[in-house]
Amino acid sequence: ADPAKPFKVAVIGSGPGGFYAAHRILKHVPQSSIDMFEALPVPHGLVRFGVAPDHPEVKNVMHTFDEVAENPNFTFIGNTSVGTYVTPGSKKADLEISDLRPHYDAILLAYGAHEDRLLGVPNEQSLKGVMAARSFVGFYNGLPEEQDLEVDLSKAETAVVIGQGNVALDVARILLTPLEELKKTDLTERMIKILEKSRVKHVHVVGRRGPLEVAFTAKELREMLQLPDTTFHMDQGLLASEMERSGKTLDRPRKRLMGLLEKGIKESKPDQPKSWSLQFLRSPLGFSGDGDNQLKAIELGINRLEGESSNRKAVATGEKETLACDLAFRSIGYKSVGIQGIPFDERKGVVPNLDGKVVDAEQNIVPGFYASGWLKRGPIGVIATTMADAYQTADTMISDFTSGKAMLNDDTSSKEGGKPLLELLKSKGHKTVSYKDWKKIEQKECELGAKVGKPREKFLTVEEMLKVLD
Ligand code: FAD
Repeated sequence: ADPAKPFKVAVIGSGPGGFYAAHRILKHVPQSSIDMFEALPVPHGLVRFGVAPDHPEVKNVMHTFDEVAENPNFTFIGNTSVGTYVTPGSKKADLEISDLRPHYDAILLAYGAHEDRLLGVPNEQSLKGVMAARSFVGFYNGLPEEQDLEVDLSKAETAVVIGQGNVALDVARILLTPLEELKKTDLTERMIKILEKSRVKHVHVVGRRGPLEVAFTAKELREMLQLPDTTFHMDQGLLASEMERSGKTLDRPRKRLMGLLEKGIKESKPDQPKSWSLQFLRSPLGFSGDGDNQLKAIELGINRLEGESSNRKAVATGEKETLACDLAFRSIGYKSVGIQGIPFDERKGVVPNLDGKVVDAEQNIVPGFYASGWLKRGPIGVIATTMADAYQTADTMISDFTSGKAMLNDDTSSKEGGKPLLELLKSKGHKTVSYKDWKKIEQKECELGAKVGKPREKFLTVEEMLKVLD
C-alpha cells in the first residue's frame, strides 16, 4: 500500500474492545488516525462501570488506555453517542452511522452490551427487590443511567443471585464484604450510605446445572471463601458424585476450581453471623411478593443432570421448592442490541462477523465495517479475552487496508475524519468531551476521593461531569 495513504478510522465505544483495537492500529499503521466516539463523557466502559470497586488492580488497564490517548493521531469524542438503537423507544443518538460514513475509511463497532437478559418468569420486572445484576452493578459503580434504581438493603436479610458467573459473585461479595473494606475503594458514597443500613446476612447463588458447570473463575471463588465471619454451604454429595462421574476428563482450571470448592466446604466455619451458598440444579419459575409489592420468595424448579460430562443438560424433575428472600438479582448475562443500519444477529446477540469483519445475514462482507469486544463475540470473557479479540479485529482491519481491500469510500480526498463532525455537533449546540477534558473530570474525582480516603469519588450524573469543564 501507498505508505502515505492515510487510514482514517472511527471507533464507536471506549471500552477495552475499542481501546485495544485502537492501540494495535496506531502501532502498526503510522499514517492511521483514530476518532473514538463514546456516549458518556467518561471513557473505559465496563472497566469503570462493571469491574468491581474492590478489584482496583484490574482497573490498571486504564493506564494503557491513557497512553493510547496520548498518541497525536488519536482523538476522543466523548458525550457523543453514535447510532440509534433499534429497540423501540430508544433515545435518538447524537450522530448516525450515515453521518460518519463519508469521513472515514473504516468504522469499528465496539459499543459493548448495555441491556440484560430476562428470565422469562412471572414478576421478574414488577416486584420491588427484584433487579438485574447489571443495573445493581451500574448503580454501585456510578453509572449515570442507573442512579434512579431503588436499592433498599435496610429490610433485607436474604438475597438470591440467579446465575453462577463472575458478575453473580461480584454482587454477592459486595453484599457480604465488611463495609470498612469497601470504604477504601471507589464504591460510590451513595452505595456506601445504603450499605451502612444493610441487614443482608445470607446470599444464595443459584444455578440450573451442577458444580462442574459454574461460570465463575478461581479468583472470584477464592475471594468469596475468604469472606470473614461468613459460613459457606453447598451440597457436598453432589460435588463428590459429579467429580467421580467426570473421572479424568476435567481440565486443569476446572480441577482447581473443584478443589477450591472441596476445600471451601471442609474449612467453612459453621454458625457465623453471615452465610453464602451455592445452590445447584435450580431454575427460577417465578417471584412472589406481599401486599406492598415487595419480593418475599422465589419459586425454584428442581432439575437433574443428563448427558455427557462435557455437555450436561438440566432437565426439570417437576419438583419445586420455595426459597424465602427479600432481594433477587438476575445475573444471567448482558445483552447487546443492534443499531440502525448495521446487521445484527438477534439470536446470538452479536454483530455478525468473520474475524471482526462485519457480514450481513447472507454472510456477504459489509465493506469498511468491523466489530470487536462483547459486541463481536457475545458478553463473555475478561478484559484479557477482549484484548485478544480486539487485536484480531485490528489485524483484520490492518490487513484489509494494506492489501487495498474495499473500504467505506475509495475517494480519499473526501475523508476528513472527525473535524466536520465536531463542527456539526457544535452547530447543534452539543458539547463534546476530549480526553484532556476527561482527565480534568478524573482529577476532580480523585481530589474528592482523596478527602475521604478513596482512590476517587465518581460523579453520578452527566451534568456533574460536564460541570467540571465549565
Ligand atoms: P464495554 O466495556 O462495555 O465498552 C463499551 C463502551 O461503548 C461503553 O463505554 C459504552 O458507554 C459505549 N457505548 C455504548 N453505546 C454507544 C454508542 N451508541 N455510541 C458510543 N458509545 C457507546 N474483566 C476482567 O478482566 N476482570 C474483572 O474483574 C471483570 N469484572 C467485570 C465485572 C462486571 C460486572 C462485568 C459486566 C464485566 C467484568 N469484566 C471483567 C469483563 C470486562 O469488563 C469486559 O470483557 C470488557 O469490558 C468488554 O469490553 P467492550 O469494549 O466490549 O465493552
